Amino acid sequence: MAGLYLHVPFCRQACHYCDFHFSTQTKHMADLVAAMVQETRLRVSSEPRWKDQPFTTLYLGGGTPSILPPDLLQHLVSGVLEALGQPVTDFREVTLEANPEDMTETQIQAWVELGVTRLSLGVQSFHNDTLTWMNRAHTGVQAERAIHLAHELGVKAMTLDLIYGVPTSRSWDNDIARAIALPIQHLSAYALTVEPGTVLGTRVERGAEQPTPDARTAEEYQRLCDTMAEQGWSHYETSNWAAPKPDQGHHTSQHNSAYWSGAPYLALGPGAHGFLGSVRYANVSNNPRYIQAIQQETLLDEREKLTARDRYNELVMTGLRTAQGISPEKLHSATGVRPHDVDAEAWTQALGDGRLVEHQPGWFRIPEPNWITGDQVASSLFALD
Ligand code: SF4
Repeated sequence: MAGLYLHVPFCRQACHYCDFHFSTQTKHMADLVAAMVQETRLRVSSEPRWKDQPFTTLYLGGGTPSILPPDLLQHLVSGVLEALGQPVTDFREVTLEANPEDMTETQIQAWVELGVTRLSLGVQSFHNDTLTWMNRAHTGVQAERAIHLAHELGVKAMTLDLIYGVPTSRSWDNDIARAIALPIQHLSAYALTVEPGTVLGTRVERGAEQPTPDARTAEEYQRLCDTMAEQGWSHYETSNWAAPKPDQGHHTSQHNSAYWSGAPYLALGPGAHGFLGSVRYANVSNNPRYIQAIQQETLLDEREKLTARDRYNELVMTGLRTAQGISPEKLHSATGVRPHDVDAEAWTQALGDGRLVEHQPGWFRIPEPNWITGDQVASSLFALD
């Protein structure tokens, strides 16, 4: 079981906080799509084990994949899947990241016809002053209308992204209320981070902008946790909540859940990161260089062979971000070590002071109120050189 990720590195405009790989130069879209299809062939021929992987989830991210005209998106998906020998109907979940300004009736219908089963919507806030501050290309009302339109057109699964800890005067409670009033089944929320090299990072560096105090960020996160719990949503990962299903269970993201559990994923496109066995690769984060290399039948990437220690640390980090947590026995079978083999004192201390609890036999997690600082607990358990 593996995931397939396609990185579409184009955006209409640069959000001031964003440090993902994208370009606002969109004139090479067709060349880029052709290169991604060709990369699929090169990846499969350079690593035949990809041919033996049944891919179960497809995620079109970016950047902004919804910016692609329908014919190019169709060409991308059908070309990649043909090279892998798997029809789109084999996938349990096909997610497309979309921004509200791209969600017209024609576009949404084309996505549904293509086999998209889930939309991931970049909303971030419903307040226009905050959206302007972020340099987003849509309004709050436009986002609400787009989500209702997709629902009416038969999109059964939708998730949206919000950002908390923003230093504007917008009401966070109102953002949460407007999100959960929509016909969505999943919500992701991320703390605003100040990344060097972004417009926001430069403003903070020059003193033109003050970062949000940690206490406010933590308080907004907690209010979101409380509200979603009152609504019966499952907080199944630090930044992710899933609505209850009518029968049983919750609308969790299958693609991300597989990623957090350490499943392999084939990632295509400039700036994409993939993983198989003990090797991780990162494609060059430059569109012209990526296209040129692929046209010359070359994979321009950096590869890293992960040691058992690297793998252990990653699984601890991602596992402790989830409600399921970590299992020492599963860690042992994946990496050869258990947490108490790595550092018995740190493990015993984390259990003793309540930073970790055994919530079901053999499974340990961080209590939910501490998830926002969970990375510190995880790193206290890391295997060091
Ligand atoms: S649309 Fe998404 S990927 Fe593009 S700049 Fe904004 S946050 Fe970044």
